[in-house]
Amino acid sequence: MDYSPIIQELIQALRQLPSVGTRSAERYALFLLESPVSVSERLAEAILEVKAKIQPCDRCGFFSETSICSVCADSTRDSKLWCIVEKPHDVLKIEKTGAFKGLYHVLGGRLSPIEGVTPEDLTIALLERRISENPPEEIVIALSADVEGETTSLYIAQLLKGKPIKVSRPATGLPAGGGLEFADSVTLGFALSGRRQIS
Ligand SMILES: [Zn+2]
Repeated sequence: MDYSPIIQELIQALRQLPSVGTRSAERYALFLLESPVSVSERLAEAILEVKAKIQPCDRCGFFSETSICSVCADSTRDSKLWCIVEKPHDVLKIEKTGAFKGLYHVLGGRLSPIEGVTPEDLTIALLERRISENPPEEIVIALSADVEGETTSLYIAQLLKGKPIKVSRPATGLPAGGGLEFADSVTLGFALSGRRQIS
């Protein structure tokens, strides 16, 4: 005797979420089954609403409900200082440190010859366009300290060569492989304040 096919489908759907194994998925499914329908409605509506309303900012790629995100639209930010990150949530991570007051550019990932990720898969063309339209004075490249992160950083530094833009990296202290995701806010804040120029 097993769960009916539609309960099994719910369990399988929940299992798609990161860090949710079969046992957790079963627990969530049973919780939803036993809760009032309003609990499921709220969850389903919240998911559909973010999927319908949140889009990447046209300028920097951060999460936004409008074509230009709240960071890009904030005229008090230093528009001459940019920080390049991999994922939208890296922006939130850096914002939490309070150590950075410039603008961002979200790459959408990093170059990986092994996984077949090329510059065309990232927002490199958008970055180049932004730079030609409104060049910054300094770009901080804040990618993870693993091979792919290094490759991507070098690629971008090469791209910026010859342009009157200072290129820097956060000081050491970012963990390898985990992007900015696992750096705690204090470490990340220090790393950004103590950034070192590479070209
Ligand atoms: Zn933006």
